[in-house]
Formats: sequence, C-alpha cells, structure tokens
Amino acid sequence: MKTEFDIAVLPGDGIGPEVIQEALKILKIIESKLGLKINISEAPVGGAAYEATGHPLPEASLETARNADAVLLGAVGGPQWESIDFSLRPERALLGLRSSMGLYANLRPARIFPALVDASTLKREVVEGLDLLVVRELTGGIYFGQPRGVDTLEDGTRRGFNTLVYTEPEIERIARIAFDVARKRNKSVCSVDKANVLESTGFWREVVTGLHSDYSDVELSHMYVDNCAMQLVRNPKQFDVILTTNMFGDILSDEASMLTGSIGMLPSASLGEKHAMYEPIHGSAPDITGQELANPLATILSVGMMFKYSLDHEEPNAWIESAVESVLGQGVRTADIMSDGMRQVGTKEMGDLIAEELEKG
Ligand code: NAD
Repeated sequence: MKTEFDIAVLPGDGIGPEVIQEALKILKIIESKLGLKINISEAPVGGAAYEATGHPLPEASLETARNADAVLLGAVGGPQWESIDFSLRPERALLGLRSSMGLYANLRPARIFPALVDASTLKREVVEGLDLLVVRELTGGIYFGQPRGVDTLEDGTRRGFNTLVYTEPEIERIARIAFDVARKRNKSVCSVDKANVLESTGFWREVVTGLHSDYSDVELSHMYVDNCAMQLVRNPKQFDVILTTNMFGDILSDEASMLTGSIGMLPSASLGEKHAMYEPIHGSAPDITGQELANPLATILSVGMMFKYSLDHEEPNAWIESAVESVLGQGVRTADIMSDGMRQVGTKEMGDLIAEELEKG
C-alpha cells in the first residue's frame, strides 16, 4: 500500500486560510498515526492569487493541484473583487480547477451529528438520524454552457444569457456515480430535474431512466427541483442519494446543510477520473473573517473524505467523525452552532480539541 502522498493545499480567501489551518493539524496527526509521509505544497488561488499574480488561478497553482494525489481547498471570493471583470473574479478559480482537472462528480454528504439535532432550525423529529448524499454534476450545465454573456440587441435592449446544456455521456457518468454510491448506502436514488419546463433536464431524466436497467437493485425515483426544495424541509429523511445537475445541486446542498445545523458542518469531495479535490461547501464568509468565528469542522471532515476516496485509507474518516461527535457531545460549539448551556469556542480551539480527541483515540 502506498505510504507517501503529495497534497496540494489551496487556502484561498476570507475564512479559507483559517479553516485550512485547522484541517492541517488533523492531517498531521493522521499522518503520524498511520506512519505516512505527506508532502504539502501550498499555492494561492482566488482573490489572493489575483492580488499576487493578476490571475485567480495562476498556471503554477493549477500545476501544483494537477501534480498532487489530492487537493484540499479552503474557499475563494470576497466583496473587494466583486467589481473586477468576470473572467478574473476569484470564483473563476473554482470553475477552472474543476474543469481542468475533470472533477465532474461532487459528493456532498448531509449527515446530522446526534449532538447537533437541536442546532438545526428544523424540529428534532424532522432531522434526527438524517443521512443523505447529494451527488451534484460539477463540470457541465448552466455554469459552463456556451453561449454566455451580456450583449445588446439591435433595438438597444441589453440582455444577459447563459446556456443549460448536457450531453448524454455527461449525464451517464454522473448517474453511474450516484447509482454506485447508492449501492453502498440504502440503495435509493432520487434524480432531481425540471423536466416539465426545461428540455435539457427532460433529456437528463430520459438518460438516467435508461441507465437504471444496469442498476435494477437500486430504487430510482424522479422529482422536480421545486418539489425537492420543499421536501428537503418537509421530510428530508425520505432521501438517500439525490442525483442532480450543477446548479440545482449547488442550491439544494446549501439547503441540506441547514438541516445539519450549519453550512460550517458540510464537507465535500469533487472527483474525476484522475484527480480529486476536497473542500467545505461554504464560501469565504467575509462577514466573519479574522474573528475566530469560522467553524472549521466542514474542512476537517473534508480531510476524512480525502483519505477515504483518494488516499486508500478508510479509517481516518471514521476517526474524524467520531472525534467530531465526541467534542460536540462535550457541549463545545463554534458560534454558528451555539445554543443555550453550551461552551462557545473559536476556530483554533475547536481545531485543537478535535486534534486532542484524535490523538487520544
Ligand atoms: P458563504 O458560504 O461564504 O457565507 C454564507 C453565510 O454562512 C455567512 O453568513 C457566513 O458567515 C456563514 N458561514 C459560512 N461558512 C461558515 C463557517 N465555516 N462557519 C461559520 N459560519 C459560516 O457564502 P456567501 O456569503 O454567499 O459568499 C461569500 C463569498 O464566498 C462570495 O465571494 C462567494 O462567491 C464565495 N463563495 C465561494 C465558495 C467556494 O469557494 N467554494 C462557495 C460559495 C461562495
């Protein structure tokens, strides 16, 4: 079994570097527990890279990411870059990384830790025991479709436009991922589309249905995205794996995050044929940057996913999840999941407590 790994670390902007710092503490502990050698290469992306080099995804950072066994990303973006040209905005780094590394499958588990059942804005009985997985297509759909832009018609009317397009192979490969992961879970896939209005997602439904014959042991259902948004807050436990398009997955997984207590709790894995990237689902949270208010758990949990999917070691994911459960069980909370009677800690202290718990285990 391989024991030496190269990890590219891309902290990014805002709270990105703060949560990455805590995730690196956890990575170091697992490295020594498993007797591995982990080589870390850090590179700038997003606004930080734009300031340093004039581009949000410099070639050198992309190369560092491409040469690694896995990439760990913080978050990018911030209000100071909102007025620059779209092609140079920090968020373009994300799209660039995803498309250049072929990261077409985004896995976003939304699982509630028992200690946080009362931190959700939904009732205990609605969320207790929740464990669903959003499988979001990541390199196609409206975020990448051409043509796109803003132009002016002959009569002087300005318009903005994007294109929602999916090819059959793009739909098939993401659907296979969803069926495959469902086989290791509760064997149920709900494919979410807007087939009643959008031809491209009607086609999505047709392709997913066609592929289902290869996976007859997995139950397949279809749901319109507006209904799914409602069902996620009405009865989220009906879902096992939600398979959906790039934009619908972006929105639904943020909604699912609130079922678990906070967007600061949700990790993600973005997988392709050759590369993989791990990141919290949240953004750079400029409103809380530099105040020790960021919850580092989503990024720490992303490290667990990295070991599971890219570094050939299953155990660290379970170790990290149980360290998180144990620390939350002791009543420790960051501000975003704080409730009466709990002890509030900052970003660093939360990272330290998880690290201590891992070292004990
Ligand atoms: P956001 O996820 O950064 O923040 C949304 C809200 O959640 C904020 O109130 C924030 O304080 C809170 N929050 C987020 N992460 C948290 C954490 N770990 N702990 C505690 N609270 C947390 O989304 P936004 O405000 O819409 O966007 C801010 C910037 O981030 C924008 O520039 C946006 O483009 C960018 N963004 C980047 C990514 C990414 O890098 N993957 C994803 C989404 C948004």
